[in-house]
Amino acid sequence: MKAEIHPELVESVITCVCGATHKTLAIRPEMRVDICGKCHPFYTGQQARFIDAAGRVESFRRRYKLTEENK
Ligand SMILES: [Zn+2]
Repeated sequence: MKAEIHPELVESVITCVCGATHKTLAIRPEMRVDICGKCHPFYTGQQARFIDAAGRVESFRRRYKLTEENK
């Protein structure tokens, strides 16, 4: 590796809103994510609703006046 151009790597714990944690190396010791491989519908194989941390889906629906029946 070239000297003095790489950021310092530390052990990092990634915490998902679904409760899963993942250990990896990163430039900061912890990170929070909204979705991960444990809960993303693509990996779970379910058509499950993902966990909406910040109410983003709701506000999107409100903005475009979408209802449950009118998706
Ligand atoms: Zn997750």
